[in-house]
Amino acid sequence: MKKGISRVVISRMPRYYRYLGELLAKGKERISSGELSKLMNVTASQIRQDFNNFGGFGQQGYGYNVQYLYDEIGKILGVDKPHTIVVVGAGNMGLALASHSTFHKQGFIVNGIFDINPELKGKMIKDVEIRMLDELEDFIMSHQVDIVALTIPKEASQDITDRVVKCGVKAIWNFAHQDLDVPDDVCIQNVHLSDSLMALSLMMLQKNN
Ligand code: ATP
Repeated sequence: MKKGISRVVISRMPRYYRYLGELLAKGKERISSGELSKLMNVTASQIRQDFNNFGGFGQQGYGYNVQYLYDEIGKILGVDKPHTIVVVGAGNMGLALASHSTFHKQGFIVNGIFDINPELKGKMIKDVEIRMLDELEDFIMSHQVDIVALTIPKEASQDITDRVVKCGVKAIWNFAHQDLDVPDDVCIQNVHLSDSLMALSLMMLQKNN
């Protein structure tokens, strides 16, 4: 893959992947950029430009092979191999993540859930047991953990981040309402749901004015 591909292009790839997965499920074998453009409501030239960042993926005019495109974009996204996730914080949000079967189907496998509430100890979420936080480091050191999801109150989030980063975790999926400091070699994806809701509220105001 070429280096320096813009974040905007990268952020569009999961949507391509999702649409292609749906096309595959319907048995579609080839698709032109024009057809994909109509389906996804983006211009065909945008699609061609996006794909050109990764070598183009196929002959223009003749269309793209859907399976090939799906597999290649899967490789770009790194979802051609499974990822393991530890969820820290077994409240409503943590449990929703841990029990969401789509992630599992996409190869994001929750293999640990941690909390500080002793009442939750040993409870099973699907086939994963809730463990107490004092076992977190030992667990990470003895299991493959690719991603740590933080679904804890913001006050605890930097401390947990520092602890898991010390154990070698390189990716944080942060649902806590806190901007976190991490070393340069650690990836972080913030999912601040209330920021998103406020943005929606602002859009509603703008539409109504
Ligand atoms: P939710 O916000 O998910 O609806 P909640 O009201 O319990 O649930 P929070 O107070 O954000 O929300 O806590 C989420 C979970 O995180 C709880 O189960 C709580 O026990 C747990 N928790 C709090 N602090 C920590 C921590 N330092 N480490 C691990 N888990 C924690």
